[in-house]
Amino acid sequence: MPDQPPVTGMTMPVNAPPGFHLLAKPSGSTCNLDCTYCFFLSKQALYPNEKHRMSEATLEAYISQLLEAHRTPTVTVAWQGGEPLLMKLEFFQRAVAMVEKYRLPGQRVEHTIQTNGTLIDDDWCRFFKHHDFLVGLSIDGPRGLHDAYRVDRRGQGTFDRVMAGWRRLREHGVETNILCTVNAANQDHGAEVYRFFRDELEATWIQFIPIVERATAETLALANQGWSERRGHERLLYTQTGDLVTERSVGGEAYGRFLIDVFEEWVRRDVGEVFVQLFDVTLESYFGRHLLCIHAPTCGYGPALEYNGDLYSCDHFVEPKYRLGNIHEAHMLTLIASPEQRAFGDDKRTSLTAQCLHCPVGFLCNGGCPKDRFVLSADGDPGHNYLCAGLVLFYSHTRPAMEQMARLLQQGHPPSDIVHWVADGDKSRDSG
Ligand code: SF4
Ligand code: SF4
Repeated sequence: MPDQPPVTGMTMPVNAPPGFHLLAKPSGSTCNLDCTYCFFLSKQALYPNEKHRMSEATLEAYISQLLEAHRTPTVTVAWQGGEPLLMKLEFFQRAVAMVEKYRLPGQRVEHTIQTNGTLIDDDWCRFFKHHDFLVGLSIDGPRGLHDAYRVDRRGQGTFDRVMAGWRRLREHGVETNILCTVNAANQDHGAEVYRFFRDELEATWIQFIPIVERATAETLALANQGWSERRGHERLLYTQTGDLVTERSVGGEAYGRFLIDVFEEWVRRDVGEVFVQLFDVTLESYFGRHLLCIHAPTCGYGPALEYNGDLYSCDHFVEPKYRLGNIHEAHMLTLIASPEQRAFGDDKRTSLTAQCLHCPVGFLCNGGCPKDRFVLSADGDPGHNYLCAGLVLFYSHTRPAMEQMARLLQQGHPPSDIVHWVADGDKSRDSG
């Protein structure tokens, strides 16, 4: 793709959302690590023989269009990978300068970046702190659990390097968020993982995401070996197909048990102190507000931008079928408002199985993410969520406490008062 000037002079398309959450991948899916479950590594196969680095022209098109497209007071500029720090500090200095150049009057910009933490040094920390970046760090728990899959290209665990990055960020007072995958290795250790984040890392923002790597009967054996080229096998391009999962994937029910383990610990002492994304958004959904696409009725407002300007429906659907176009050829808002993308987002609701439609916690779950819908429902309908058993467990188990927190909020009390209610319940159970 030859570099071209940014598309400007946008006319507002019909169905244009006031805001959206775009994830930009400035180094594509290139990474300095080789986490075994990371199917994003396979996406390099989409652009063979190319250097996966965002050019100045694409950076300018991205930032100018993003700011121009938003009619919300705050815009998030979100970087992801692969490993975005491979782009070097100068790239992000130019990105921040570009934001200042194109920021509209009154527009507030939040910068976020997701990293594996191994390349962070003092210069990065000073930069993040100076520009108020929220830095998401990927860590899967204490050493043994983290190193199960988060390894480098020699197959060595990365725990010490990630912890060094974490400590540096803390020393510089950078705002951080822990991103922890839930997978076959840590799925039975919810409380241990959570306590490690709370007590050892003193983390206050935590996000859990389930590892579900799909495969077919033909691809399963290769998929089980991992997704990078280096493993001495033909490279597979990961696509959301197949009704089998790799051995690293979390079990459906186990995912729910993991979340419940964490919740039981959190609700007794940490409400209002530690923010667990799924717990926050679940509480919000009792008020009819769905802040996380996965459990919202529809989606399609979280597109992914590749290093060369190609825009895809979602970070989980970076595959040819879901390429919306290129921002050098069409404005990103036109692509996001396109009938194809609206259909992608609306399908989330229209493709629900009968089991989801009649589910008692359906108003909270909304069938989960379409990428995980590949098993048969209890009635034998295809396209049901692989994680359903765990989602039912989690939403049902947490419902009494969530409803109590919702009541507290309605009465003008902080939800953290829930600890007294839980303690009373514990006492009466013990004495009974
Ligand atoms: S496909 Fe899944 S992750 Fe992507 S936007 Fe929809 S719900 Fe969110
Ligand atoms: S818990 Fe299961 S049945 Fe209920 S909405 Fe979610 S995926 Fe559907």
